[in-house]
Amino acid sequence: MLKELIDKSYLDRHKEREQSRFYITDAGKCPRAVFFKFKNAPRTEMEARVLRMFDHGDQVHQLIMRPLLSVKEVHVVAAEVKIGPQELISGRADAIISDGKDLYVLDIKSMNGMIFRNLEEAKEDNINQLQLYLHFFKIPRGILLYVNKDTLELKEFLINYNQSLVQSLLKDLTELKVKIDKNIIPQRSSDYPKNWQCQYCAFKEICALASSDEMSWDDFKAKIETTGRDRS
Ligand code: SF4
Repeated sequence: MLKELIDKSYLDRHKEREQSRFYITDAGKCPRAVFFKFKNAPRTEMEARVLRMFDHGDQVHQLIMRPLLSVKEVHVVAAEVKIGPQELISGRADAIISDGKDLYVLDIKSMNGMIFRNLEEAKEDNINQLQLYLHFFKIPRGILLYVNKDTLELKEFLINYNQSLVQSLLKDLTELKVKIDKNIIPQRSSDYPKNWQCQYCAFKEICALASSDEMSWDDFKAKIETTGRDRS
């Protein structure tokens, strides 16, 4: 009984909300998957178990932040820092810290032991996010701090602001926003279905039904509605 109630509570809280701006985690992601997310297209529902793992990740972040609030070598200037108001992206960095000389954006990521052990450099999608924080906060350096969820070991990577990478991420998102507004489904990823994002993609099923090239969302929506794959 409790399991069902807890699962339901997680699933109810997770109900998809209308998305009008990009989340920082969308940067560098498959444009087609992000498009489908904006349009609330039919997707594989996330399991309550996975949602609990996200919750657990948040708890781990708080655990790691706590000692930083009391050490004298580092000052936490602000925690849970939101990107300032603009039309394109919303996001919240874990903290901005200072060593007394320079400011750093801190982003904490947790992962399972196997991925952690094999981690030799910062992950590309995490770098993309951090680069955007550096850009919007106008801070030249940041730290990606990884936590092994199984053992609570830590690894950290210092990341310098990369202007050309940020310009490329912003350009891609701006172009994708035009397609979202015009209801044009972006083309399928060129290395579909081998791309790692395809393996975990909640839109894999409907992506396979659409053509590999760009196509009209209105036409595709009508097609999936007639095959009973819409959510209504
Ligand atoms: S299955 Fe792959 S190409 Fe298709 S939307 Fe998902 S990530 Fe993109």
